[in-house]
Amino acid sequence: MKYAVRCEGCGCNGKVPKEMLGAEVRCPKCGEVFALTREAIPRMRVLEVREGDILVVDVNAHTGGESAPVRVRLLGVDTIEVRGRKSFHTPAAEEFARERLLGRDVFLEFDYKEEDDFGNKLAYVWLFDEGVMFNEMFIQEGHAEVHRGYKRIAHFPDFMDLESQAIVAGRGIWAKG
Ligand SMILES: [Zn+2]
Repeated sequence: MKYAVRCEGCGCNGKVPKEMLGAEVRCPKCGEVFALTREAIPRMRVLEVREGDILVVDVNAHTGGESAPVRVRLLGVDTIEVRGRKSFHTPAAEEFARERLLGRDVFLEFDYKEEDDFGNKLAYVWLFDEGVMFNEMFIQEGHAEVHRGYKRIAHFPDFMDLESQAIVAGRGIWAKG
């Protein structure tokens, strides 16, 4: 698992393994030495929530630079519900995502695959202040299924556990009735 970090010297972006948080590193570009703290993690702001699992984030929300919107797909979750021959994103999932994410600060964590086939970033989206991962909340509250197409991601086993719990508890799309 890797976190995106930004060099404090030249502002270049890099990715470091989670285990390195807290360590001192030297930027390969400008030579600046800085500690990899949460402050070095680019803090982005959610501008839009589209169809539940796609967000638009401003990567420059805290850099003073011009707004730089980037599309991000929530990695490892599936909000498409199929009923008969129709498939759709459940309104409840979208509402949940909007409530929790819109206008909030987040940071991204990447896995082995960083982009989907449509040019969206594929990421675990963490709420910056709370330090909780939205992808997990989404599954835990029964608003999304685990995406079976991403079995190799690091969080897949945790996601499956959370999904089982949501099914047993009958939350969200798993509601009994
Ligand atoms: Zn640098």
